[in-house]
Amino acid sequence: MPEKYWPETVILWGAGATKSLGLYATKELIQLVIKINNNDFSFLENKDEKLKKAFKKLVTEDLIKDPRLSKIYDLKALETILKTNTKLNMHELFTMLDQLIDNDMGFNAFCNGKTEFLRVDRIKAAKRCLILLIEELERISVQKSPGYMDELSVSSYYEFSKVLTELMREEALFFEKRGYKRDARRFYLYSYAIISFNWDPILLWNIFNAHKEENDNPVHLTDGLKLRLFDDFGSKITSTEMDSSESEIWYTADESQCKRVNDYKYPSRIVRIGKILFPHGVFGSRICPECGKYITTFGNRWDRLSTEVFGPSVCEELQINWKYKTKKEAKYKRGAIECPYCGQVTYPYDMPLIMQTLAKKRSIPPLEEIKTEMGLLMKNAKHIIFAGYSLPLDDIMVKTFFMSSISGNDRSKLKCTVVNFDENYRGNEDWLRGEELNRYVKESGNSQVVECIENVCDIFNIQNVRVSLKGVPDVFMEHGRCKKEKVIDLLYPKEYFKEGFPLIRN
Ligand SMILES: [Zn+2]
Repeated sequence: MPEKYWPETVILWGAGATKSLGLYATKELIQLVIKINNNDFSFLENKDEKLKKAFKKLVTEDLIKDPRLSKIYDLKALETILKTNTKLNMHELFTMLDQLIDNDMGFNAFCNGKTEFLRVDRIKAAKRCLILLIEELERISVQKSPGYMDELSVSSYYEFSKVLTELMREEALFFEKRGYKRDARRFYLYSYAIISFNWDPILLWNIFNAHKEENDNPVHLTDGLKLRLFDDFGSKITSTEMDSSESEIWYTADESQCKRVNDYKYPSRIVRIGKILFPHGVFGSRICPECGKYITTFGNRWDRLSTEVFGPSVCEELQINWKYKTKKEAKYKRGAIECPYCGQVTYPYDMPLIMQTLAKKRSIPPLEEIKTEMGLLMKNAKHIIFAGYSLPLDDIMVKTFFMSSISGNDRSKLKCTVVNFDENYRGNEDWLRGEELNRYVKESGNSQVVECIENVCDIFNIQNVRVSLKGVPDVFMEHGRCKKEKVIDLLYPKEYFKEGFPLIRN
């Protein structure tokens, strides 16, 4: 019999959910790349002086004059391509670069009164540079002082993570009382899962920290065993151990461990696990160019506000806290991470990020595995939350993937929550449904939000859709603090789950 227990609520985490942290959405990123191209650094105006200087140095000196960096990340070639058409969006730009690379073709650019031909090697290097810029722009976007995120803006995400952790602890105690077997999914699998379409690891890092605090001071189950909470990435991903000076191999937790550890015959501790997937990849991760393993890094220490979790940067001043661990890393620097399996040095361009592109996708096995897992989560979910994820249905791949994922799900029962942000919405309701929703769609001037709602209603039954226009984090905040009741109402609303939290798993 196939497994019948899956996370009941699946949260799709998108760019809108992290906007309040300063992270840029794709639309803004392409604008910024064009600005950099035009030597316009006005977007750094309110940044710390040191960061500002370092970023300018990266794009005006390192990527231009450094003989090695400028070859690998060819900013000049990228500029030339962008100059031929400044109206390109990110989707079109990546598709164009991929088409040229796939066909082994160069690019003939007419700009500044003459033509310049770029060979395909330079197109590849331009693409690498574009990805590097995206990574560095996001890294600098969250830094308030060098190396650190802004405590105030991160605090709501941290509190949210604390509440999620608290709920999963409570769930364990309830599930145990009900006699759910500890070595079965019914007990150990979280009732929520997160699928992040963002590359930034900030929510993940906050959940990690909240879990660690819980695990350092755990509750005891009835027979005295300690409860421990972990995350499963949907694919084997390796890192080196934190708080350790060695490059010792370290595995992220996964479901198979739950089965083993929770074995009644060998009682030691009890593990519960939540799914958190990054189907588009995550900053700081690498595919080793020698052995092909998927590796990542979470930095060297448990500092909730440190940007180390983004991984090392090619520019040290943009990642001030980073300490290269191994001899090889210290020798090569420039974002080097030594593969804990084979010892090969990996660089930021080994980072597998999925970009929106219509070109034939290069298959990246670990990410394919995560995508399969994501399909299963969506297929088996009872409640899907679009948290700042705007479902870009103009991307036909996204639309078809969504449709096929939920096609086997009974759509009269599948519930949906949309959390989006409309600063001009003046209504009082926490949630818009049915008629109110229709009225909003008709009358609102916010085409982006309306489009997102319409897309969702295309796939889901409108009777099963509710919408909040407060955005993340406000949807779960009250008087500046994250409120547990609001998180419960967001994830497990009584209108969708009769029994409310904790859910009943029959
Ligand atoms: Zn390797």
